[in-house]
Amino acid sequence: MIIQITNRKDVSEEICECCDSWMAHWENNYGEDTENCSVNFCKNKAEVGAHVGIVDDEFEDIYIIPLCKSHNSSEDIMMVEDRLIPAYELDDCDIAPED
Ligand SMILES: [Zn+2]
Ligand SMILES: [Zn+2]
Repeated sequence: MIIQITNRKDVSEEICECCDSWMAHWENNYGEDTENCSVNFCKNKAEVGAHVGIVDDEFEDIYIIPLCKSHNSSEDIMMVEDRLIPAYELDDCDIAPED
């Protein structure tokens, strides 16, 4: 499914205790390694676990999704594959980061 998202910069950068980066948080919870940016037709490598919100989400929840650097700094509405992981309050986010 394709959904519309926007970057959310109005969020705490504080990382969850179990993951050493937001990209790791996404990978641990999605169960796959990150490869490409999630934006439709973007062929760039994903480099950032970006904080995003879904357009018209009345709850304004914050999610993490892998994006390339240029899409991570975009202020436009972006069409992405729905592989959002909630940023906070995950019960099963207890995988220790690898050293
Ligand atoms: Zn985590
Ligand atoms: Zn991209």
